[in-house]
Amino acid sequence: MTAREWRSRAACRDVDPELFFPVADSGPLVERQVQEAKAVCAGCPVRAECLAFALGALADGIAGGLTPAERRRHSRRLAAGGRPRVVRGSADAGRAAIRAGGRVVEVAAAFGVTVRTAERWAQDVRAARQRGAA
Ligand code: SF4
Repeated sequence: MTAREWRSRAACRDVDPELFFPVADSGPLVERQVQEAKAVCAGCPVRAECLAFALGALADGIAGGLTPAERRRHSRRLAAGGRPRVVRGSADAGRAAIRAGGRVVEVAAAFGVTVRTAERWAQDVRAARQRGAA
């Protein structure tokens, strides 16, 4: 799945983008906005792909069901060798994230697997592409 394809399946594609970018840092209105955005993400079929992308490329806004601060904590926890509490992914979802353009290191972090495992997923994706091109 290309980045264009997973974005076309996003649950937020028909939602006002401003919902995902609160203008203030805190307060009850912001909290409500964050919860509404997260509710959209919770039902999103491409949340894993979105989070893999956002961990490496998106500093602002709610994406992959996490706020920027939560994404930073998630990345730090994974970098420290911790297990992901927020996102668990299957091999299929990991391969989908790689097909969507996620870098191996980012996908490994997003799914809580070793880089070696994510490299294996990337090999699977390359092999499938070659079979498709043959
Ligand atoms: S996870 Fe959330 S921000 Fe990402 S594509 Fe899905 S709905 Fe949009």
